[in-house]
Order: sequence, then structure tokens, then C-alpha cells
Amino acid sequence: MARIGFIGLGNMGLPMAQNLLKAGHHVEGVDVNPAAIEKLKGAGGAVAETAKIAAARGDAVITMLPSGKEVREVYLGAGGIIESANAGTLLIDSSTIDVETARVVAAAAEKKGLLMVDAPVSGGVGGAQAATLTFMVGGSAQAFTRAQPILEKMGKTIVHAGGAGNGQAAKICNNMILGISMIAVSEAFVLAEKLGLDHQKLFDISSKSSGQCWSMTTYCPVPGPVPTSPANRDYAAGFTAAMMLKDLRLSQEAARAAKARTPLGAGAEKIYSDYVGSGEAGRDFSGIIRFIRGG
Ligand code: NAD
Repeated sequence: MARIGFIGLGNMGLPMAQNLLKAGHHVEGVDVNPAAIEKLKGAGGAVAETAKIAAARGDAVITMLPSGKEVREVYLGAGGIIESANAGTLLIDSSTIDVETARVVAAAAEKKGLLMVDAPVSGGVGGAQAATLTFMVGGSAQAFTRAQPILEKMGKTIVHAGGAGNGQAAKICNNMILGISMIAVSEAFVLAEKLGLDHQKLFDISSKSSGQCWSMTTYCPVPGPVPTSPANRDYAAGFTAAMMLKDLRLSQEAARAAKARTPLGAGAEKIYSDYVGSGEAGRDFSGIIRFIRGG
């Protein structure tokens, strides 16, 4: 049993912390929202008043925060995790953030002799609840080896992607593919409608042809062909359009910094930005098909 500080008990963090409790770990939660803490207490967790306390007491500290801004504050601020953690405390950041912040925080941890990994996830709230998340992990081999048994209690697939920041790099590259492919599949269905080609027929053909991809076969943006896809429940999220926009923005920030040419990624960012701006931030990202169709 490890003593684990868990900071950020939101939609993802709470069920992840609950899975650590189920696995027999002692979990001390921290969140700026008192309601989130009450939920962890209800599930058998303990409370640490601040990140500083959680870090000073923990064998490991996990963060699941909204963005790079909060990650910088919580790790690097006065009384933050890095200042407060004991030598030997393992640091795991599972938030989705920019590669640069992940590398800056990891360098500060290393300077203090602390092992750290960036370990963003894919799989959404359902995956967090079912402990089937995919973790994309960046950090040293030693840090990965220590993090793996903890991550295995919250996920099914744990991949070491390389050095610090490479977990975040993998996450934004993957989600750039997803954003682009969802738009591509949506455009194909909208064109098919105009050409008098039935949704199910396009699905039957494309799902077995070279147009096959996850956005078509698992998360199909029209109702019918894949009964579990959000299209069948008025595009209730799921993975919101706002989150897809966040990840596309991170991909474009990284592309600019690294001087990589990603014109389709840039186009996808613009289309999702317009979709979110139309008042659909909380809708599932596959609802983009309605925006492309124009209603
Ligand atoms: P969320 O907003 O539900 O949860 C974030 C939690 O952090 C909140 O409870 C908030 O009160 C808390 N928090 C904010 N600032 C804090 C601080 N300074 N100290 C302590 N607590 C603080 O977000 P979420 O959906 O759980 O997502 C968390 C991260 O996981 C994000 O980076 C997101 O991009 C990523 N992610 C989310 C999903 C998803 O489907 N929701 C999927 C993959 C990755």
C-alpha cells in the first residue's frame, strides 16, 4: 500500500482516485472545490488541506488539473509540490498540458532529485471509471518503472513514450489525428447526403475500406451505424468540443514552437473554434457534423 496525494478531483481525477482506493492505497485528496473533496471522502478517501501537505506526506503525488497554468502553480509555486516533496516521492502529472510546461516542471523536479513522469490519458470519464485508461508516459526509465504499478490500477495500457514531455507529445499528436479524422468522416457523410447515398451504406463500405478509422467505426458521427456513439443521444458528451479545441490548440502551439507544418491540424483548430463559438462547447466533439452540415 502506498500513501498517495491526489490533486485535482474533477470528472477524471475523482474516479481515478477511487480506483486507487479500491486497489488498497491510502489516498489523500486536494481540490480547490470542497464538493470534490466530499465525494472522495464518501468513497473512503482522506483529505490533505494543501498540495504542500499532500506532497510532504506522500510516497507519490498525482495531479489531474485543467491546464498548464494550474500545473505550474501547483508544482512550481511557493509551497508547491516540488518545494515540499521529500526525496523519494514520485511525481505523476496526468493532466493534458503543453509540452513545454511538462518539460519545465520535470526539469525542476530533476534539479531537486525527484522522479517525475508526465502521464496524460486517453479514454475519457468512462475509461477513468472502469480503470481502462491508456497512459502515455514521458520520463526516465527509472521514473517509469516506479510509476507503472500505480498507473496499472487506473488504466489498461501503459506506454513509455520516451523522455520528459513525450507523454504530452504523444497525447496531442494522437488527438490532432482524432480532430482531423472526425472532421473528415463528418464531411464525407454530409457529402454522401447531398449525393443521395445512405448513411448506413457509406458506413458498410467505408468501415471495410480504406476510409476506415476510429471516428468512423467506433464513434460514428451519424445516428444508426454504431449504436453506442454520441450521435444516437443528441451528441451528449462524451468528449466535449471544448476539450477537443483545447487539445488542437496545444498541438498547434507545439507545431509552431517545433516549426512543424500541420495545415490540417490548423484547419481543424479553426473549425472546432468556430463550433465552440457557436455555443456548442459542452456538446460532444462528434457534433461537429451538424456544424459542417449547417444545422
Ligand atoms: P475537471 O475540470 O473536471 O477537473 C479538474 C479539477 O481540478 C477540478 O475539480 C478543479 O476544482 C481542480 N483544480 C483546479 N485548480 C486546482 C488547484 N490549483 N488545486 C487543486 N485543485 C484544482 O477536468 P477533468 O475533465 O477531470 O480533466 C482533467 C484533465 O484531464 C485535463 O487536463 C483534461 O484535458 C484531461 N482529460 C480529460 C478527459 C475527459 O474526458 N474529461 C479526457 C482525457 C484527458
